[in-house]
Amino acid sequence: MRKKVIAGNWKMNMLPNEAIEMITKLAEYVKDTNNEVVLCVPYIDLFYCLMTAQGTNIKIGAQNMHYEEKGAYTGEISAKMLKSIGVEYVIIGHSERREYFAETDEIVNKKVKSAFANDLKPIVCVGETLEQREAGNTFDIITAQTEKALYGLSLDEVQNTIIAYEPIWAIGTGKTATSEDANEACKKIREKISKIYGQNVANGVIIQYGGSMNPENAKELLQMPDIDGGLVGGASLKAETFEKIVNYNK
Ligand code: PEP
Repeated sequence: MRKKVIAGNWKMNMLPNEAIEMITKLAEYVKDTNNEVVLCVPYIDLFYCLMTAQGTNIKIGAQNMHYEEKGAYTGEISAKMLKSIGVEYVIIGHSERREYFAETDEIVNKKVKSAFANDLKPIVCVGETLEQREAGNTFDIITAQTEKALYGLSLDEVQNTIIAYEPIWAIGTGKTATSEDANEACKKIREKISKIYGQNVANGVIIQYGGSMNPENAKELLQMPDIDGGLVGGASLKAETFEKIVNYNK
């Protein structure tokens, strides 16, 4: 039985004082959940969030990292640096990074390898544009992105990778994939992993859905058999909305 992983992605929002206030409230709301609760926060908030989340069941993640360990990469942060302060998760290859920061599948793969080398759990985002969906290419796109992201990993690393299926047209738009469509996409990703790495490995991989998930649609999405959690943007900014997604099964 796979555990549901509900991860928030704050993007470029939340000052440290807002972050501390949100996590203090959220910790109380989610203290009895059997789901994994993760907040992926801006670099500037990481240390405050780690301190505030201590002794709670909230895990803290970053939203990006560089694949090199150190060196002349002005403005960048490495996996080793994240690990050194206690970060556990990192989002890799979010569509906003692919689109605005020219992140390719090759870069994503390097980052995933570096995350594992430093004992961070990667949440790897894959997803199709509206044009790709309308052209009938969704499954080819997302399975190719998955295959490239996982290339060269050990079976154990593959099994410990979290994949977030995020149709780009559903991110921040209020449009959500139907639970059937979202489940079908997650299933195709699992089938691809099974073909390459075997059914056992594929059965263990957490595959999340992301794209305008909110308290109203979370239950239906999260009850689907191949959807193992959510990557939540807008609705993760407030403790009152995020907790309803985390506690969808209460
Ligand atoms: C995201 O940023 O990964 C996301 C899914 O955003 P939203 O929930 O706001 O659509």
